[in-house]
Amino acid sequence: MGRLSTLFAPERVAVIGATDSEGSVGRAITSNLLESFDGDVVAVNPYKDDVLGLRCYDNVGDVETSDGIDVAVVVVPPDAAVEAIRDAGAAGIENVVVITAGFGETGSEGAARERDLREAAEAYDLNLVGPNSLGVMSTPRGLNATFGNEMATEGDISFMSQSGAFVTAVLDWAAERDVGFKDIVSLGNKAILDEGDFIAEWGDDPETEVILGYLEDIADGETFVQTAREVTQDTPIVLVKSGRTDAGANAAASHTGAMAGSERAYEAGLEQAGTLRVESVQELFDFAQILSGQPLPDGEEIAIVTNAGGPGVMTTDAVGDSDLSLSSFEDETLDALRETMPEEANIYNPVDIIGDAPAERFETALETVLEDDNVAMAVVVACPTAVLSFEELAEVVVSQQQAHEMPIATTLMGGKSVGAGREILSEAGIPNYFDPARAIESLDALREYDEIQSREYEEPATFDVDRERAREILESATRRDTNRLGVEAMELLDAYGIPTPAGGVVSSPTEAQELAEDIGDDVVMKIVSPDILHKSDIGGVEVGVPPEEVRDTYEDLVVRARNYQQDATILGVQVQEMVDLDSGTETILGMNRDPQFGPLLLFGLGGIFVEVLEDNTVRVAPVSEPEARGMLDDIESAPLLRGARGRDPVDEDALVEAVQRLSQLVTDFPAIVELDINPLVATPGGVQAVDLRLTIDQEEL
Ligand code: ADP
Ligand code: MG
Repeated sequence: MGRLSTLFAPERVAVIGATDSEGSVGRAITSNLLESFDGDVVAVNPYKDDVLGLRCYDNVGDVETSDGIDVAVVVVPPDAAVEAIRDAGAAGIENVVVITAGFGETGSEGAARERDLREAAEAYDLNLVGPNSLGVMSTPRGLNATFGNEMATEGDISFMSQSGAFVTAVLDWAAERDVGFKDIVSLGNKAILDEGDFIAEWGDDPETEVILGYLEDIADGETFVQTAREVTQDTPIVLVKSGRTDAGANAAASHTGAMAGSERAYEAGLEQAGTLRVESVQELFDFAQILSGQPLPDGEEIAIVTNAGGPGVMTTDAVGDSDLSLSSFEDETLDALRETMPEEANIYNPVDIIGDAPAERFETALETVLEDDNVAMAVVVACPTAVLSFEELAEVVVSQQQAHEMPIATTLMGGKSVGAGREILSEAGIPNYFDPARAIESLDALREYDEIQSREYEEPATFDVDRERAREILESATRRDTNRLGVEAMELLDAYGIPTPAGGVVSSPTEAQELAEDIGDDVVMKIVSPDILHKSDIGGVEVGVPPEEVRDTYEDLVVRARNYQQDATILGVQVQEMVDLDSGTETILGMNRDPQFGPLLLFGLGGIFVEVLEDNTVRVAPVSEPEARGMLDDIESAPLLRGARGRDPVDEDALVEAVQRLSQLVTDFPAIVELDINPLVATPGGVQAVDLRLTIDQEEL
């Protein structure tokens, strides 16, 4: 059991701030605890002698066997809360649930109070929930340490919510359906315990089959990803993350910064963590129910059995929208269906056994298709008819599901008539939906979780790099008193083994001439200035300069830069070997540091149209080799890299390696805030980084 086990399974709970005043939160908590908890409740309140029949202690430290108290629930006013937490810590209590509000959520005074609270909790190493929490629940012990008005029914779903109001709404909703819970926690302001702690706890809890979360943010994305990766190997995690729209795009200097917003970081982080992300509360519980009730499929092929043409087509469309596919039946299956079904039936998937089908016909059809090797799961779609009893149908579906141990969902399309049938199904863990699309989405979630479970997490590779050299280059910016580096820092990439064309930065036409002669061919020349972000926009890049024009071009570039900005700092001109763009594709490889998830890598189609086309994908670094390769698969122009229109495919391995090497670079140097290699030219022979731009945070160096 994890270290939070006594939070959810206490013997004794103290309420600090217990009271019997009508309508108060303190009273609601105390009476909720008294109602169903099968342990002891201790009341603490220096202004009362007794509360709801409990003797009241002045201080939690006065309770004779105070070391026997496992949880203290704090409901005192905000200015007394920090003291109450110290009392609890001094009395040796390990878990504290702070219901009291008026902390970080209320402005600067509250934020200062929250800092004090965190310090007090850290001093006593407390497992602290909240503040500003609705409380915690755990059904096996009847623990209701919340001020909600409903206790959860017992089940195998554990649920955390960043909104307390959402917990009460969900409980009310769940009471109407057959949704039961193991533990529930309202996270509040997450001063100490956050979502990562609870997924770790529930991942170890044999009574929790599915973890659900309603989150508004993720406090520590990097830890969350690591923990969730392990937990999801055994226990599915389904999350609603609200606030999906980016609050104002950040004014970033790099392309990557502009394109990789925080919503993309969540999306990538949660996906890499192996969580199932849903859009709505409906889906949250749809997925929870099917994950807890049905086995995982052994594939993605689904059979549809229905008594109605229209709904059968709707279901087929839903399959088309999902990552499932319609099974194509084996010959034996078709023969068997042909023999047993009426002539008007459609024996091909979706199997339409027509309107006059009684439950027995469903049974025969279902049994036949479930025996087919190309079927991994099934959905039964039935409309009410005079000859069909939904109750009988439910029994048939249950027995077939149990006999074949394959996931099944049903769509009994009806209202009143569905009741008894739905109950039979629900008892066997088979979800029923009115809308076939929901059935398909839920079955698709099973497939997705199966895929997550079979993922193999590889450690990110560590390449042999010149870390010291890289540090020197970053520090050189500090000496020049700038946060921005450009092509003058190309060696940073060399130090980490990302190939760059031959060349360098020179500061006179003569030097330019010499360098061009060394290169021995036409060259590319670029103005080098921290004040000029997009060089080609101001005519600062000349491609294909013949040796005899190098001197003049040098002068031209400087003039253009001066015309653009009179006082621009000009570091010189870069003279660079030409890269063969005809056989190559310009890609972008970059990084933007996210406040929650850390370095976020971006890969996509590059060049000067990068922001117009916006074909790119992101991953939280460090990435493993399969994750880096996955980035290539993700982008829409992947076929372009793989040799569309008779072109030779680019060197994919070299691209994948460049992604991993950049991942290592930005992981090694937190001082790199954002970075763009645009373009990273990919050719059949390898990759070449021809441009670089980065921003650093000098304090991190
Ligand atoms: P910026 O992005 O600041 O305008 P780049 O260095 O990316 O400057 O150059 C702009 C474009 O010039 C590139 O997208 C590429 O098409 C072309 N280019 C730059 N360097 C080379 C090179 N060494 N070989 C061939 N083409 C180049
Ligand atoms: Mg560029």
